[in-house]
Amino acid sequence: MNKNKTIWDELDKPRSNCGVVGIYGSEEAAKLVYLSLYSLQHRGQESAGAASFDGKKFHRHVGMGLVADVFNDESIFDKLPGSMAIGHNRYSTTGTTLIINAQPLLAKSKNGLIAISHNGNLVNARRVRHNLENEGAIFQTTSDTEVIMHLLARSQADNMLDRLREVFTILKGAYSLTILTDEAIYGLRDPKGFRPLCIGKKGKTLIFVSETCAIDLLEGQYVREVEAGEIVVFDKNGISSHKLGAPQERTACIFEHVYFSRPDSKVFDENVDRARRKLGKNLALEKPCEADIVISVPDSSNTAAIGYSRRSNIKFELGFIRNHYIGRTFIQPGQKLRDFNVRVKFNVVKGVINGRRVVVVEDSIVRGTTLRQLTRMLRKAGAREVHIRVTSPPITSPCFYGMDFPTREELIANEMSTQKICEYLGADSLEYLSTEGLLKSVPHDRGGYCTACFTGEYPILPEKIKNKNDLED
Ligand code: SF4
Repeated sequence: MNKNKTIWDELDKPRSNCGVVGIYGSEEAAKLVYLSLYSLQHRGQESAGAASFDGKKFHRHVGMGLVADVFNDESIFDKLPGSMAIGHNRYSTTGTTLIINAQPLLAKSKNGLIAISHNGNLVNARRVRHNLENEGAIFQTTSDTEVIMHLLARSQADNMLDRLREVFTILKGAYSLTILTDEAIYGLRDPKGFRPLCIGKKGKTLIFVSETCAIDLLEGQYVREVEAGEIVVFDKNGISSHKLGAPQERTACIFEHVYFSRPDSKVFDENVDRARRKLGKNLALEKPCEADIVISVPDSSNTAAIGYSRRSNIKFELGFIRNHYIGRTFIQPGQKLRDFNVRVKFNVVKGVINGRRVVVVEDSIVRGTTLRQLTRMLRKAGAREVHIRVTSPPITSPCFYGMDFPTREELIANEMSTQKICEYLGADSLEYLSTEGLLKSVPHDRGGYCTACFTGEYPILPEKIKNKNDLED
């Protein structure tokens, strides 16, 4: 196993993404960044880091691994002084797993030093990078965030806001950014608002975070989200709001609600817990089931399973217990033990399962490998029937906006019919929530959603792809 991967990386789930943070106006800015990154650990486990400005100098500390590994000594914060700091948790959706790609990136240009934390994927960064390299630009990382740095450095605009506007007429795709300069912290979201970014406040301290669970940890108050296509600036004048460019139709990532964000967070101005319960309720309405108990695959489908249980009047039970204490690596047994990798993470509560007809509520199926093993474990524990209900439609298409799915060929719903997947999983029945049911579960008053991984309808196509049929190549 790659020593930078956690055992949870082997779970059959899409991985994303990144967590970004910005703290303005606290003498402990770097420590608050660190605490926020702790809450956002689920958004990236490969590397973490922070950059601060103390009024004279920029400082940076990054490392590979979990937040606790990277910030493993109190003295690290002595090297990150200042009242302004940004931070980042990374899982690489572009760029390889290397320390040089750890963020925040920090670079110097004619406009001074600047640090950037980026969540999302740019869909044309490769072409822009290629053009820049042809003109002599030298890149130190393989991450597309460095392309932003280069374009900002080359811009002739005389202020940061105009530089950002110029750069993001060139670069397209998904980006929620926190940017640290010697005067301010900028938080911005792309015009389609794929990835979340929230504003919080604690006394005079101003906060940017990907999800509000980090604001809760700091005992701050949620103010609002950064709007799609908005640049919010924290500086000596307080908070100001600016437009990035012409407004566009919002297409927030619906997968943040299905699986990715924490249920105790608010993203896109909606409680994830509420959206997830509705997903479970709508699934129970659309795809009912005769059964004795409803169980979840902890932790990500817990809330949706409660929603399914409430609407179907079938009792919710804890059928699987997840081991939260597995470290980065574990030593595999010498003998081949069947389903070991899954069993080390989940165990069945036999007394709950034995003799029962069970509905397993799961949030998504990618390859189906983990769910197949879990189904086998339920049978072994004496389940009379196993019915699988999924709170999202079949995943058939890759994501270009920062969520890392396996290749199109590895997505089981591309290779098999629902009936065949059911047989592969060894279940008695398998049903998915419809796209309509998915969209009905989230509020629409602030704009629409991206559903491309379920529908193949891409809000922005990567440049080499002229229409979605080319995706079949
Ligand atoms: S393709 Fe799927 S995972 Fe990617 S942004 Fe769209 S909804 Fe989210």
